[in-house]
Amino acid sequence: STEARIEDERTSSILLLAAGVAHELGNPLNSLTIHLQLIERKLKKLKSAARDKETAALSESIRICQEEVLRLDGIVTNFLEAIRPRPPDLAEVNIADVIEEVLRFQERELADRGIKVDAIISHDLPAVMADRNQIKQVFFNIIKNAMEAMSPGGSLRIKTRSDDENVYLLFGDTGSGIKQEDLVKLFQPYHTTKQGGHGLGLMIVQRIMREHGGQVGVESNPGLGTVVTLQFPKKNRRVRMLQ
Ligand code: ADP
Ligand code: MG
Repeated sequence: STEARIEDERTSSILLLAAGVAHELGNPLNSLTIHLQLIERKLKKLKSAARDKETAALSESIRICQEEVLRLDGIVTNFLEAIRPRPPDLAEVNIADVIEEVLRFQERELADRGIKVDAIISHDLPAVMADRNQIKQVFFNIIKNAMEAMSPGGSLRIKTRSDDENVYLLFGDTGSGIKQEDLVKLFQPYHTTKQGGHGLGLMIVQRIMREHGGQVGVESNPGLGTVVTLQFPKKNRRVRMLQ
């Protein structure tokens, strides 16, 4: 539809702009790093001549600046990585393995937030063709959102299912839910209802799922919780459809 196309175009121009800004930040960050090093070296020479409190305080300031530069650099790098569209590097993947890996990775945060995890994951699921790292990011973002909607406490239910054509993965939470009027904005970049949120998580999820020939759906009951459903095409679907 025209509406969807306009939305897509707006999304990509915002992303392009954001990527440009992030890229531009790279140069001043480099320059800051180099000059901080220069100042640090000069100060070291001074220090051996006149070792006093002042130079010690300056050294400490330089160290803090260097740390902050590294932090900014990390933010920029992550951001660029997050919004860079990349074609998936497809290989046969067992979804159950990947989801368990992601759960292990988030185990600590889930426990700290007092969230109970109920994962009914079939290991007989048909394989799908997927980019393992990209779908890890998809699962991670969805579980992260579920945690943020619930804690402290709550329960996260993960289920798998398949039919003739697709493999499905469902993530149900008992969190705040999503208001009807917000449902349409979910996948827009920078839509967030959180303090300190980036509003990029679900946009990335949708992009990756589309590039896998799959889909993401969200159903929600405000006050009760949310179910996010991922649909992956089965590995041999195309072949079977041609027969
Ligand atoms: P962020 O997490 O940085 O806000 P996302 O793109 O991941 O960005 O999510 C966008 C918004 O969608 C969130 O701010 C929140 O309002 C809503 N949302 C996403 N997942 C859930 C969920 N499981 N429960 C309730 N709200 C959700
Ligand atoms: Mg998020």
